[in-house]
Amino acid sequence: MNGAGGGPAPAGRRAAGRATELEAERSGAGPVIRLEHVTRLYHVGESEVRAVDDVSFDVAHGEFVALMGPSGSGKSTLLNLIGCLDTPTSGAYRLDGEPVQDLSEDRLAAVRQRKIGFIFQAYHLVGRMTAARNVELPMIFAGVDPRERRERVASALQAVGLAPRARHRPDQLSGGERQRVAIARATVNRPSILLADEPTGNLDTRAGAEIVTLLERLNAAGLTIVLVTHDPAVGAHAGRILQMRDGRILDDAQDPPAIASGAPGAPAVETP
Ligand code: ADP
Ligand code: MG
Repeated sequence: MNGAGGGPAPAGRRAAGRATELEAERSGAGPVIRLEHVTRLYHVGESEVRAVDDVSFDVAHGEFVALMGPSGSGKSTLLNLIGCLDTPTSGAYRLDGEPVQDLSEDRLAAVRQRKIGFIFQAYHLVGRMTAARNVELPMIFAGVDPRERRERVASALQAVGLAPRARHRPDQLSGGERQRVAIARATVNRPSILLADEPTGNLDTRAGAEIVTLLERLNAAGLTIVLVTHDPAVGAHAGRILQMRDGRILDDAQDPPAIASGAPGAPAVETP
């Protein structure tokens, strides 16, 4: 049996240099997210809060990353920076190889529309609109034609198991169903990354597990996901866990041991 996946990487690989890196970015093989010394300060009265403090890391295409840490450690601030809802006080951020740290509000909004899907703990659906209309909305903003919109609404709701609820308004849906509508809405424009801030925080265990299963399925189909969670059982489904504290990344663990196995998209585990 050959357990080794090839020899060690050549020591001089890094010297292959910047040209290779740029080539990789152009071909879409570079990191989808690259943060370099990113800091976000807030000024509250006289004092300064380092909500995100000199954070650097890459996320490759197709990764499923969980961002964990105590309340106030900077998770939401970091996710909002990654999602171009906010810009760093200092440092550089490349999304799909494109520097976004200095873009104007308008350009940032355009990047968000093309590349980013967001889901939140409180769903943020439009209350007076049906599930179908909520899912359609981002396509209206993106100028997708009505016929294609209808087709994509139907398949997006189908994909989250909510085709029969298309004409229900949010107040006629359970929390888990609302979050599934939010997932359909966040993915209908085919973003490069899906960002989720405590998406199971308002849900019971079973509805939360359904959401995690959906996220795993989307990830298995190639979508890059960054998920903020308090819940270790949720974080265990990610392929990588970043632990935050006081605005810094304390730990970056690849392939953390799975608590629950057998979920779709989970890597097969050999029993000893
Ligand atoms: P988490 O999501 O991990 O709970 P946050 O990113 O929300 O943490 O907050 C990180 C730190 O930044 C906290 O100390 C918080 O009080 C502060 N903070 C967040 N947003 C603001 C804001 N808009 N103005 C001032 N301070 C903020
Ligand atoms: Mg938060």
